Amino acid sequence: MPKIQKIICFVSVLIVLNVLAQKVSVSVYNDFDLTSVVVSLDEGSYRVYCDKTYQFTLDTNHVIYITRTNDQISLRDSKGHIEMFSKILFRGTGNANSFKIRPVNPLIGERKYDDELEIRIDLNRLLFLNWVDMDDYIATVVESEGGTKATVEYYKTQSIITRTYTYDHLDRHIEEGFHLCDGVHCQAYKGRGKRNSLILKATKQTAGLVITDKNQELITAAFHANCGGETANSGDVWLLSKPYLQTVKDTYCLYTRNTRWKRIISMQEWSNYLKKNDFPVDGFHVSLFAFDQPTRKKNYIWMNRAIPFKKIRNDWKLRSSFFSVRVEGNHIILDGKGYGHGIGLCQEGAMEMALKGKTYQEIIDFYYQDVKFFHINQIKALEESKLLSNPFDDL
Ligand SMILES: [Zn+2]
Ligand SMILES: [Zn+2]
Repeated sequence: MPKIQKIICFVSVLIVLNVLAQKVSVSVYNDFDLTSVVVSLDEGSYRVYCDKTYQFTLDTNHVIYITRTNDQISLRDSKGHIEMFSKILFRGTGNANSFKIRPVNPLIGERKYDDELEIRIDLNRLLFLNWVDMDDYIATVVESEGGTKATVEYYKTQSIITRTYTYDHLDRHIEEGFHLCDGVHCQAYKGRGKRNSLILKATKQTAGLVITDKNQELITAAFHANCGGETANSGDVWLLSKPYLQTVKDTYCLYTRNTRWKRIISMQEWSNYLKKNDFPVDGFHVSLFAFDQPTRKKNYIWMNRAIPFKKIRNDWKLRSSFFSVRVEGNHIILDGKGYGHGIGLCQEGAMEMALKGKTYQEIIDFYYQDVKFFHINQIKALEESKLLSNPFDDL
C-alpha cells in the first residue's frame, strides 16, 4: 500500500475508534431555559472541575446550586463556597455513576442521568450536557420507546434501530457543540430509566450493531406503533422514497392494541373541510363522499380532486392515514387502521414476531428491504463532521 494511503487508512481507523470511545453528548432539559438548578449525587462519586481545575468531590450529602449570572456560572454549595466560572465538569470516578438535576427556575421535575455532566453557557443560556455511554443512552431510549413488557428479542430489534438512528444523527446539533437534544426533535431522552434488565441485556448483546442499506450507508430506521396490516411506502408519505422503506403486508399486528380506530365527524364539518380544499361539494349527493381504503392509498380522490391522506391525518389529528370514509346518516365515519406514519418497522407487529420466536434479524429483514447488519466500526462513513472533542479527555 502506498505510504499516503496507509496514512489515510490509519487516520480513518483513528476517527472510527475515536467515535466509539466517544460518548454521546445530549443537551438535557433542552426545551427549557434553565437559569437556576440544583445538582446532587445519585450513585458513585464525582470529581468536580471548574474551568479545568479540580475543586472538590461530590459526595452523598453535598448539594450544588448552579445559577446563570450574565455570561458566567455561579456555583454555590451546601458547604458555603460561592464562585463564578465559565465551565463546570462533573467527572464520574466510581464504577457506576449517576447524578440528579432539579431545576428551580423554572420549576421542573428532578431527573437522574448516568455518567458525566458538563455545564457551560451558550448564547446566553445554560447548557447541561450529559456525556453518556452509547449503551446507557440506547437502553434509556429503548425503554421509553418500547415500554417494559416486551421480550428480549424485540428489545434487541429496537436497540439496533435506536443505535442506527443515533449514529446517523450525531451531527444534528454539532454547531451548538453537542450531539443530540433530549426532545422529540432528536429522540426523547428524559433521564435514566428503570434499568429494565432485559433491555440492558438486549443492548449489550447487540453492542455496536447497526443497519445499513446495500451501499453500506446507515438506513433511516423509521418505525411506528402499528401499521394496521400494511406498512406505508416511504415515497407516498415523504418527499424522498427509500428503497428499503417499501410497503409490506403485515399480519402480525392485526389483533393488537392499536389495530383499529374510529372517528365520527358531522356531515357539515366534512363538507366545509372539502370545500376549503377546493372540492366542488355543492349539488352532489353526500353518498359520494365515501371512499374505501382496503389497502393503503396515497390520496382521497373525489370528482377529479385529491387530498393526500397524510394531510387529512394532520388536519384532523388522526391516529393514522390508513382509513376508509363512509356515510352514516348525518355523519361521516372514518374507520381507521394502525397508529403512526406507517413507515418502516411496526412495533406491535415486531413484538408479536418476537413472541412467536422470530429473531431480530428476521424481524428487521421483514420490515426493511435488502438491508445488512454491520458493527459500527466496520462502517467507513462516520465522517469527521460528527466528531466532538470530549472535554473530559483533557482533565
Ligand atoms: Zn435535537
Ligand atoms: Zn403492522
